[in-house]
Amino acid sequence: MIIVLRPQCGASAAEQVLEQVRAAGLSPHSVSGPDGQQVICALGGPDVDLAGRLSAMEGVARVVPVSPPWTLAAGGGRGPVAIDGPRPLTVGGGTFLTAAGPCSVEGQETYLAAARAVAAAGAQLLRGGAYKPRSQPASFQGLGAKGLEILAAAREETGLGTVTEATDPRHVEAVAEVADMIQVGARSMRNTPLLTEIGRTSKPVLLKRAMDATVSEWLCAADFILSGGNERVILCERGVVSFDQGRRNCLDLAAVVDAAGKSGMPVVVDPSHATGRAHLVGPMALAAAACGAAGVLIEVHPSPDKALCDAHQAILPSELTALIPRLEAVFEAAREPESSEVVTA
Ligand code: PEP
Ligand code: MN
Repeated sequence: MIIVLRPQCGASAAEQVLEQVRAAGLSPHSVSGPDGQQVICALGGPDVDLAGRLSAMEGVARVVPVSPPWTLAAGGGRGPVAIDGPRPLTVGGGTFLTAAGPCSVEGQETYLAAARAVAAAGAQLLRGGAYKPRSQPASFQGLGAKGLEILAAAREETGLGTVTEATDPRHVEAVAEVADMIQVGARSMRNTPLLTEIGRTSKPVLLKRAMDATVSEWLCAADFILSGGNERVILCERGVVSFDQGRRNCLDLAAVVDAAGKSGMPVVVDPSHATGRAHLVGPMALAAAACGAAGVLIEVHPSPDKALCDAHQAILPSELTALIPRLEAVFEAAREPESSEVVTA
């Protein structure tokens, strides 16, 4: 960071600043201009709270950070993420992933029928929430542990890996037993105890961007998972809040490219929650493939008129069947060559 001292900062106030920097383990280098303006370059770190302490010191005019606050996600040099499901998969690195299924696991019969249809359509991962983060307590909250059992049965029968959400740190262990990828929902992106608990597992994590989060905040959330030693983070853009009520959210595809470039992590897109309208899901999924997203997470339901959750944005299995080859063709036509080193546990 660069610390700009006040013009009237005396020698003893300047020395206190140098002391504070050294005490944080950084090495300070003072530079004076011909007009007597003094700045200190503090190298090393990170100490993200140091900037605040320095700003509060008498001799300091301002502190300019030179590194982003997401120190681990900035590591770069990452390759695709391995998912060790029934059929091993990689996310990123020149392949396009389609994860699909109902919003939530609603019951044994209906979920198994949906799972078979999703497998037949050619998806590589099966989605379905057992623990649902709903906006109202009166809404269907998911089947919880029973939902995980049904998900496990669908995994067994279809041979597809699963992605399902953990909403509570106390459920992470049980979710990790069934999930080949643990989802952190948009509402949980700032649930740091949950992120920390998931960071202790070695399961791939699908970290959704909160609907009101900057890319920087999203990558800071990824840091909580990475700091536990879990490197298998996949980011998911699912739309951000907008002034326009015509769609559920506003799909921010530039953030997909930005976050992937800054972190080296695979970034997938959820066009279902981004739009909230079934007829917009296919076109936005194709746009995601065109901008180099590593895949899509799509809500599919064999009978949307019977869905207990997010019925208005569910596409039909037949629509998924038609969409998958188009997604792969668009992705292939638009893709740039990437690194192929796989990140494993
Ligand atoms: C989901 O994918 O099931 C979900 C609840 O999405 P989000 O967290 O993006 O709202
Ligand atoms: Mn949903």
